[in-house]
Amino acid sequence: MRDSGGGGPEANAAPTGKFNLNWGHTMLKSALLWASTNPTMAQRLPRYRFVQRAVRRFMPGERMDDALREGEALAALGTPTLVTELGENVDSAAAAQRVVDEYLRLAGEVRSRGLDMQLSVKPTHLGLDQGLAGAAENVVRLAREADGIVWVDMESSPYVDPTLELVREARSRVPNVGVCLQAYLHRTEADYEALLPDIPNLRLVKGAYLEPPEVALPQKTDVDEAFRRLAVRMLRDRKAGRMGFVALGTHDPRLIREASRAARELDVPGSDWEVEMLYGIGVSEQGRLRRSDIPLRVLISYGAHWFPWYMRRLAERPANVGFVLRQMLKR
Ligand SMILES: Cc1cc2nc3c(=O)[nH]c(=O)nc-3n(C[C@H](O)[C@H](O)[C@H](O)COP(=O)(O)OP(=O)(O)OC[C@H]3O[C@@H](n4cnc5c(N)ncnc54)[C@H](O)[C@@H]3O)c2cc1C
Repeated sequence: MRDSGGGGPEANAAPTGKFNLNWGHTMLKSALLWASTNPTMAQRLPRYRFVQRAVRRFMPGERMDDALREGEALAALGTPTLVTELGENVDSAAAAQRVVDEYLRLAGEVRSRGLDMQLSVKPTHLGLDQGLAGAAENVVRLAREADGIVWVDMESSPYVDPTLELVREARSRVPNVGVCLQAYLHRTEADYEALLPDIPNLRLVKGAYLEPPEVALPQKTDVDEAFRRLAVRMLRDRKAGRMGFVALGTHDPRLIREASRAARELDVPGSDWEVEMLYGIGVSEQGRLRRSDIPLRVLISYGAHWFPWYMRRLAERPANVGFVLRQMLKR
């Protein structure tokens, strides 16, 4: 099963009326999402120095040490972190085992350095394509070794059912597992309802993959509203003891404001929820949260297999392409 791409809801928005900037933006987004799944591009583009320079904006480096170093720097500012080794769709159970070994080593390093740094993992990086039981076992092994919640990312829509099943299986054996839900999917509210009896740990995001309108909301404003509604619901359910930890993965200042207002009004303490952002994105908003009482955690990515992930970051904000082009012009 292949990842359908990366990058976001607007990718499917149809042009309305005459040509406008929004249409150009949508086309560029779709092109970037298409590129994220193209094997030839994945092989060629990362070789260019300007692409390597541009990706540094979103990741501190390819080695585990680079991520740990940045985790220590953020810890010194009082900001806890998440860490992920980039990669998806491994082609064998043995490759998934190598990923597990990397994460086990990482969990050991995190502990020995005394960091509050949680693991965030992709199901297909841990072998979901090779079988649900093996991938669930891998998540259980990591959760037993790691401190804090092990977060399971949500990939493209064909993976939603197996991922939720994997997480159910893992959670029946270890409590410290959480999963991501994507606000752009039509099915997400129903998935949320179905998860509630397990008092789940959930991370809500807007969604980063190219999905057809039958599967995901095509308009960004609708996705924003779905996120807002579900975020408030999650906080309310947390207060009522029906939810585990509430993580809101967004850089959207308006939604962060609305969620923090809801948390305040519902009296949900900062130990029960947090805003999560990606390293290098929304840096001024991260600074603002650091100076406020809104809990923040930053996800740091590292690893050699960054191409599809990087294309999804470009597609989230096509203006980022300008930054890549400027790197190309530098010597
Ligand atoms: C911790 C975390 C975990 C995630 N895990 C998953 C996952 O498992 N599955 C999944 O599908 N998606 C995941 N995502 C990605 C998510 O779905 C969105 O694509 C991404 O967060 C951008 O949406 P936004 O909520 O920030 O809102 P947007 O409306 O897209 O952005 C709000 C503002 O943030 C800034 N911004 C956002 N993205 C960028 C960017 N790439 N470059 C520069 N500025 C930017 C811009 O200023 C923008 O105006 C995750 C995101 C985070 C933060």
